[in-house]
Amino acid sequence: MSTSMNSTLHIIGEEISPGEKKELRLKISEFYTSNPVYIPVIALHGEQEGPVVFVTAAIHGDEINGIEIVRQLTARIKPSELSGTLLCIPIVNIFGFYTMTRNTPDRRNLNNSFPGINKGSPASRIAYIIFEEIIKRCDFGIDIHTPRENRYEIPHINADLNNRDVHRLARAFGTTIIINTPGPKKSLQHAANKEDIPTIVFSGGEVLRFDKKITESGVNGLMNVLSSLEMVDIERKEPSFSIIVKKNRSVQTTQGGILYVHVQAGDLVYEGELLAKVANPFGEEIETIVAPQNGLIISHSTNPLVNPGNEVCSYVMLDRSLEIAEKALKNR
Ligand SMILES: [Zn+2]
Repeated sequence: MSTSMNSTLHIIGEEISPGEKKELRLKISEFYTSNPVYIPVIALHGEQEGPVVFVTAAIHGDEINGIEIVRQLTARIKPSELSGTLLCIPIVNIFGFYTMTRNTPDRRNLNNSFPGINKGSPASRIAYIIFEEIIKRCDFGIDIHTPRENRYEIPHINADLNNRDVHRLARAFGTTIIINTPGPKKSLQHAANKEDIPTIVFSGGEVLRFDKKITESGVNGLMNVLSSLEMVDIERKEPSFSIIVKKNRSVQTTQGGILYVHVQAGDLVYEGELLAKVANPFGEEIETIVAPQNGLIISHSTNPLVNPGNEVCSYVMLDRSLEIAEKALKNR
């Protein structure tokens, strides 16, 4: 841990002393009522020197899991015992949050708008202000998501493991599954990494819900990362096993009907094992869907109403790591 005293932080027109926690408001846009639109920023400025880390959530306005993760994280950390600075934005896409929807009022994906343009579209301007005012001041970052609507997902990390510092963060977070991906172009993850700010994405749970397991996994993971950066002094909790995969694979319906999913996110499945059935409105079974390979279920549909082509579940293939996963899951 660092022993040198931190200096005063100047951010969004405010001064924050070492060892101080402050709630800030960053103006990111204006309503059509001409009223200003602010997003909340929670700054924890450590007494000792250290890295500056951002935690962002709800870039998609209905992915609210990060609000609770940030609340618990910022309640747990005392700035007097922190080395470095934590800048948390629990609700990035406040417009989407107001309407409980994913995108911005101009129907853009805010996570497809970074680093943003000063004189661009409404979404691009919001991205620009956040990137300039908060993200660029940071040394590392974690962006929190859930899957899109109608899906439940186990907690996992998406990270560009070709970047050594990103790899270190991803490993330190400590989820069972790490998906090696640079993220979509113009996502916050991609833009921050391009700016030399190693950033990972934590994803899990479902839209418009708090989930105890996901919250716990998120808070523990963030504490693990801060500990690996020597910003907090805690004992790290490691997962019983950890698998790095290139991508998750999707299993889809071929018939329209009522979907009955027989597996849960986190389940280990074997080639040929029953995943789901589709029935018609008369109750007759019209499709049986089985696992195409041995794998671990990452996410499953929460909506029983399907057309041909809807995703039933997604999984990661396990071949060499199958035995490790079997052993770890049995001992749980
Ligand atoms: Zn998202």
